[in-house]
Parts: sequence; structure tokens; C-alpha cells
Amino acid sequence: MNNIPYQRKSGQFERARGIGHVPIIENKFVKNELKSYHISHQEKVDEIPQELIFDLSQEINKETLPKYIFSFDGSSKEVEVDERFPSTRLGYLQIAAVLVLMEEIIEQEKHTFINPSKLKDTIYESIQPMVFPGSNIRKKNCTNLVESWRYGIYEIFTKYVIEDTALLDIYFTLLKYGKERFSGNNIILKKCAATERCAKNIPVPKEGCKCPSCGLELFPTDALRVYEEVYDLQSNSGPLNRMMSCLEHLYMIGYLEYLRKRRLDLLSNTAFIIDGPLAIFGPQAWIHRSILNFINTHIYQNLEDQSFKYPIIVGIEKTGNFAEHADIISKFLKPQTLMLLTENYIYKYILSCQKPQSGEYGSETYYGQKLFYKTKKQQILTITIPTKKKPLFTKEILKHPALLGTLNLLDHIGTIIYKDALIPIALAHSYASIPLKTGSKILKILSQKELNIT
Ligand SMILES: [Zn+2]
Repeated sequence: MNNIPYQRKSGQFERARGIGHVPIIENKFVKNELKSYHISHQEKVDEIPQELIFDLSQEINKETLPKYIFSFDGSSKEVEVDERFPSTRLGYLQIAAVLVLMEEIIEQEKHTFINPSKLKDTIYESIQPMVFPGSNIRKKNCTNLVESWRYGIYEIFTKYVIEDTALLDIYFTLLKYGKERFSGNNIILKKCAATERCAKNIPVPKEGCKCPSCGLELFPTDALRVYEEVYDLQSNSGPLNRMMSCLEHLYMIGYLEYLRKRRLDLLSNTAFIIDGPLAIFGPQAWIHRSILNFINTHIYQNLEDQSFKYPIIVGIEKTGNFAEHADIISKFLKPQTLMLLTENYIYKYILSCQKPQSGEYGSETYYGQKLFYKTKKQQILTITIPTKKKPLFTKEILKHPALLGTLNLLDHIGTIIYKDALIPIALAHSYASIPLKTGSKILKILSQKELNIT
């Protein structure tokens, strides 16, 4: 801070406008300020520590492929509903679950170019579109926007089903595995969602209840705390994306449970791919603990008891700090090698702007361990594999029963049409995506029709 000139303190905006024709980057104050910045990703990587690299080609090639692949992806978009009042907005969200037969991909693999759209006739998809109120809009039975979101989310959870089970039931099944948030048949709401500084630790049943202190309606889905980031008179794409991410994971949980109840053999032969890391961020981050326990003590345990192997569960990141770093260091890795990420490495090369906080990276958000994998086809992927337990950065992951099967699958589902993309993800994405141009026009018309705005 000491190299910032004194003058800057008074009226810096006037000053900035006063320099008019001088490009901002040439301004000496700006120049000095820039010198005081540390920018991540500028650390040069000359080689990767050998102890982090594992050539697994021998072992991977012995693995068998799963029969089915499920992939999950969501997309969201906030649109204006009335040109005269551009701040009146609605949020749309869509989740796609796509099921692909592995043999169809193998068939496609014989051709030089694998085209995901060719596969479209042979896959099964479930698309669920949802709508959320935005700035200047409330549900008719609610007093404001925040309440509309709370009620709206509860409604979605009661009305939307995954095959035959309501989202709300899946949510309750999952939360039973997060001990500190569940008691009897109730979800424990840490604080009243209807009134600020009201009751704490309120047990809320599936059907909702009145707050013991303020008497207002509370919903079990309030525990997701999505409403905390909802504000009137501004964009709500933030909470919309939080909701989307939560739902993607919940959909995966729903299908894991669906197969577990019916066909353990099929579950064991199915892969589940999520677009993004196996992690939950923001006010909902606490749910990652329930997912970790659900996978380990419920799904894995059930399969183990019946001597079935674990299904493949993997998160794939296409963007962000890790994916960008993976691109840079890809040249150091041979095909079919796995790179272990240690906390040391992460904070030195990838997140050098962040100081390690208490505990390890991702301990409050991840239910898996992050790794880099270079496929047989030379794609570099940032993946997360469910951890059996924390901490997240040990070599133990190499012993994970589903690791080699996962890498083998990733070797086969790459597509050269999109850089570092995987066929099932590309498919899920194409179903989930709300097209930016035509899409928003259609959504706008739909919004206008349904809301009677002319
Ligand atoms: Zn209350």
C-alpha cells in the first residue's frame, strides 16, 4: 500500500476522468498499482515433480467398460420480460440427465470423427425446465421476492420427480447422511428463514411448519439457503446458478438411489458423470458432507455387501483455474498418466493468490479428490473422484477401487469435435443448454404470454 501516492486519496474519480485521452494503462498511478499486484498462473512450471506422476497405462488397459453412462448438466438464464421495464426479470433453469449406451460409443469410436449428434437417436434423456421469479416479480401468494424463491424452491422439490421419486424425497434421503442437519424425520434449519434474528435450530418436517417464534411458514428446502443471495432490483443469476449446481448433484444422487433400489448389478455397471467438480460451493456447501457419506456408507457399502464393484462417479471440469493450468502442463505428461495434486502444488502454481486457510484445500466443499489425467487420445482432463474419506490429497486415491475403471472410460469417451470434451457431457450439455440468442427470445415470449404482459 505504501507506493500509492497521497494525491490519490482525494477525488480519484475526477482525476481519472481528467486524464481523458491518456490510456488508463499509461497512467503512472495505475502503473504503480499494477506493480503491487501478484497474478496467479505466472509462476513458470519447468517440470512436474516426478512423485506426482503415475503412468497407469498397463493397469488401465486391463479394465472393462461400464454398460451405461449417465451424465448431468444444467443451464440457466435470466431474461427481461418487458422492454419498457428492463429491470423486471425472470430466471430459467434446465437440468438434463442423459443416458448413453457404451456400445453405441464404441461403435462410433470406429469412425475417425465421433459426432455426438449422431448418437442422439440412441440415447435417452430427461429434461426438466424450471422458472424462478426475478427482480420486480413475486408469486401471487407471497409478500416479496425472497419469499417467492423460498416457496418456489419448495414447490419444485415437491412437484419435480426423478423417474418415480420426488426431489423432496431424494433430498431427505440424502440429508439423513449429514448427521448434524437431521434429527428424527426432520431437517434442522440452523436459523429461521422467514424473519431475521429469530429462532435457531428449528426441526422442519417434509411438509414444512410454522416458525415457533415468529409463526411464519418454513420449508425444509430453506436449509439450502439459496434465498440468502436473492435480492430485488438486481440480477439474481447468482442464486440461479447455485440452485442449478445443487440440482445437478441431486439428480445424480436420485439416479444412484434409483438403481441401488432396483438393480445393484446395473448400478455397478453404470458410470455417472457430472459437468463440474464433485463439490458444492456457497451457502449450500455443507451438503457436500451428506453426499460424501451417502456415497460411501450407502452406495459403496451396499455394493460391497453384495460383492459388486463400485460404479464410476466422476466430475469433469472444463473451465477455471485448474483446467487452465492442466492445459499448460499437459506437455509434461504422457498419455495414460495421472497427476496427483498436492496442496503444496496447488497453492504454489494454481492458486498462488490464495493463502492456504485452516485445513486443506476443498475440505469445506469437495466430496472428491481432484486429479489431472491425460487420456490415451491426449486430452488433458481435470477430474474429481469421490474420496472414501478426507483428507483430500493423499496417494490413497490410487487405491480407489473405481479409479482405473474411470480412467479407462475417459480414454474411450473423448471427442475430437470439441477440445477436451467428452461425448456424454457434450450430449447432456446440448440438451440442457438454453440457446443464448433464439432461446432468450422464445423465453421472453413465453414469459410475456404467461404473465399477460403485452
Ligand atoms: Zn421465525
